[in-house]
Amino acid sequence: MLQQTRAQTVIPYYRRFLARFPTVRALARAEEAGVLACWSGLGYYSRARNLQSAAREIVRLGKFPREYDALRALPGVGPYTAAAVASIAFGEPCAAVDGNVLRVMARVTNDAGDIGSTGTRARLQEQAQALLDLRQPGLFNQAMMELGATVCVPRAPLCTQCPVAADCQARMAGTERQLPVKLRKLVARNIEASLVVVERRGKILLWQREAGGRLAGFWELPASEQLAGLQQARTIGSFRHTITNSRFLFTVMTGSVRRAPKGFMWHLLASLPAIPLSTSARKALRVYTGGQ
Ligand code: SF4
Repeated sequence: MLQQTRAQTVIPYYRRFLARFPTVRALARAEEAGVLACWSGLGYYSRARNLQSAAREIVRLGKFPREYDALRALPGVGPYTAAAVASIAFGEPCAAVDGNVLRVMARVTNDAGDIGSTGTRARLQEQAQALLDLRQPGLFNQAMMELGATVCVPRAPLCTQCPVAADCQARMAGTERQLPVKLRKLVARNIEASLVVVERRGKILLWQREAGGRLAGFWELPASEQLAGLQQARTIGSFRHTITNSRFLFTVMTGSVRRAPKGFMWHLLASLPAIPLSTSARKALRVYTGGQ
């Protein structure tokens, strides 16, 4: 849940998720729609699907994997997660290198390579592995993450308070504020779009995304272009929504239709919390219900 998402945002989702799926088996047994509904609003839904696939794989294996390679083989588990779990939970000697640790390592070793390049990352991973305290790998990894999050921070590292300042090559060379080097920058795109809330007798008009995409299986509100026969259309508000480097400005409209167009279904407003609904649809419905 914490991938690309702040801890403060995650906490209520985490609690609800664990209350609903308290064991690996419970998650493995659940309907995918129920899992996605519980995740609705957090975004990056492949994480939820992968988590459930991993739970099913663990049930099939009959035990929770303890070694790096076995953890890495689970769906959705990358090198960082595998190393973090293996070292912190099971004491395996694996360096867990997240964005914070990459920055610390680039500075400690005074490495001016592009932090976005595979070569630089591999080199810093190797350096972190060489530094690892083999007696307490989990604690060492957590200390490195914490150092990056609280002391060796991106713009103005707090070198005078840093416990590793005496060994930091960037500090010695005076390059700490120039590192790490990031060459590639994503250009943000601004996109304007509209969503329409059509309500009839306590039911809302929705369509479902087909299998294959990032939001496969999720329900969406129609865009105005999808409702050729929209009547009494009016704008009731707007909201912003960002997905990676796309910045959306959604206008929220209401209106009525004679009948549901092909591919659309009516859903009881009260039942929406129980279905997987995209974050943009949820935000639009909040504008709608708040504006009533
Ligand atoms: S001395 Fe400064 S640059 Fe070096 S690790 Fe510590 S905070 Fe980061």
